[in-house]
Amino acid sequence: MIDLRSDTVTLPSDEMRAAAADAEVGDDVYGMDPTVTELETRAAEIVDMEAAMFVPSGTMGNQIAARVHTERGQEALVERESHVVRWELGGFAQLSELQIRTVDGGPRGIPTPEQVREEYVEKTLHRPGTGLLSLENSHNYRGGVAIAPEKIAAAAEAAHDRAVPVHLDGARIFNAAMARDVDVTAFTEHVDSVMFCLSKGLGAPVGSILAGDTDFIREGRRVRKLLGGGMRQAGMIAGPGLVALENREHLADDHANAKRLAGGLKEIDGLAVQEPETNILMVDTENTGMTASEFLERLEDEGVYGIPREGTVLRFTTNWNVDADDIDDAIERIADLLDS
Ligand SMILES: *Cc1c(COP(=O)(O)O)cnc(C)c1O
Repeated sequence: MIDLRSDTVTLPSDEMRAAAADAEVGDDVYGMDPTVTELETRAAEIVDMEAAMFVPSGTMGNQIAARVHTERGQEALVERESHVVRWELGGFAQLSELQIRTVDGGPRGIPTPEQVREEYVEKTLHRPGTGLLSLENSHNYRGGVAIAPEKIAAAAEAAHDRAVPVHLDGARIFNAAMARDVDVTAFTEHVDSVMFCLSKGLGAPVGSILAGDTDFIREGRRVRKLLGGGMRQAGMIAGPGLVALENREHLADDHANAKRLAGGLKEIDGLAVQEPETNILMVDTENTGMTASEFLERLEDEGVYGIPREGTVLRFTTNWNVDADDIDDAIERIADLLDS
């Protein structure tokens, strides 16, 4: 089976399993797990923020950020197709009692500073006030596009000019940094908090990081507890997370494989391919006469897996359980499918 559904499907390496087995642990709710503390310290260092916190999932990290940055009843300004709007169950409304105001960031999923200024709402007798700007990089729904640091900086500056804090959903921030050939701090220096996933391209079995300043993370720990995210001997999963954190260079292989896959699929009649910038590849099956779901159902019989988006659009995501030979194999099976 060639599993291109997501970069979350990877199985932990032997090194990660060993790190779990050998982790020095304690009760992290009491701040006594040295492996978790080491992971948080190292993560904060990498994104150059004062503090960081280990959370069970990226979703929880984003939700904690929204809750800590805002007050009940405020507006959150978010990109229309961002993960926090599309795939987090309306968490900003459910957990932080925020009203969402979406802005259309276009095909690259990034609001312009003009849009931020236009959609900003001042707190008055009648209006709730904007309490947060949330950005995303790489932008998942838009096809893993890697947004330039200057675009993040410009949108963030427009928010900061109005004293609005900025959160960056950087589930795949290291993919964006690699694609842009910059250090991750080129993004994080412009925002007040960042979330990134250890469990995606970096390959850890569990967990994400939320980073920000010391006060933000102190309050974030209270919200994490509230949401049921206080974990005990969490070094068992933080150990593999530490290994994952040092896997950042490996993302280059995923990007090369996405390009390889795009190159192969482009040659196949009926498929339209969006040029990949990171490890995500968007493919349109319209000219095959099949919807994405129909196409993928048939492809599963050939042992290749992707996920459908809407209509005729589907997503393949390269990951470190898939190598260049698997990619060539996948291309061949897709070509055969459309030939038959
Ligand atoms: C995967 C993802 C998340 C959520 O991470 P989970 O660990 O699956 O909860 C958040 N934002 C983006 C952009 C993602 O791709």
